[in-house]
Amino acid sequence: MDEVRGIIDSHSHYDSTPFDTDRDELLTRMLAEGSPVAAVIHAATDVDSMQFGIGYAARFPRFYTSVGFHPELTAPLPKEPRAVLAKMLSRSDKICAVGEIGLDYHYEGYDRELQIGLLRMQLEFAREHSLPVILHCRDATLDFMELMREYKPKGVVHCFSGSAETAGELVSLGLYLGFGGVLTFKNARRVKAAFAQVPEDRFLFETDCPYLAPEPFRGQRCDSFMIENTALCAAEIKGIPAGELVSKAAENTVRLFGIGV
Ligand SMILES: [Zn+2]
Repeated sequence: MDEVRGIIDSHSHYDSTPFDTDRDELLTRMLAEGSPVAAVIHAATDVDSMQFGIGYAARFPRFYTSVGFHPELTAPLPKEPRAVLAKMLSRSDKICAVGEIGLDYHYEGYDRELQIGLLRMQLEFAREHSLPVILHCRDATLDFMELMREYKPKGVVHCFSGSAETAGELVSLGLYLGFGGVLTFKNARRVKAAFAQVPEDRFLFETDCPYLAPEPFRGQRCDSFMIENTALCAAEIKGIPAGELVSKAAENTVRLFGIGV
């Protein structure tokens, strides 16, 4: 088997509680010289999460972060969300994206207008600051695609789970697609079909950790080392060695986010 090195996790949540017991030890080991993981990007979801990302980016050289409000916020939205983004952005030169932003109509009681307004504001904020976006879309494809056609943002649709047709349209709009553990699931025929046809210069690897661990770790706490397993499955789909796919994904991630590794 060829060696898998230079992994970049383009989407992680190391602020999540499942990492409370060993977060610093894990990140120290993961981002050490000689580790197969070259860098990780933290996807912020709310004010606390943005603060976490800025703090960890200052401590770990290959830890990058983002600013953004997730559509399914766990904390209430501040009164002036745009001003908060601007303030956070001024606090670190390792903020490489606006994210994680998007639409999520999965749970009953969601506020469609509020989510669309928040996404518009953040797409405009990203454009104004020449930053790429990290996009989340769940059960909201119609509204989401309409906004993508309108804004044509530079960015990635993370944990892509749509059809090959939607993948094709997003790529033609200029977007990248992020693939993680779901790609390895037996019943993920649609995601596999989308990955099979995504151009080699338009996909990223990610974990969305601690969630969505790839096979054979499905259901366990996920971390960025496990991208190797996703890459092994991806290699079977594309007929390209896993190590080569990891290098391509890393190149794409560096190009999109302008990060150094
Ligand atoms: Zn996420």
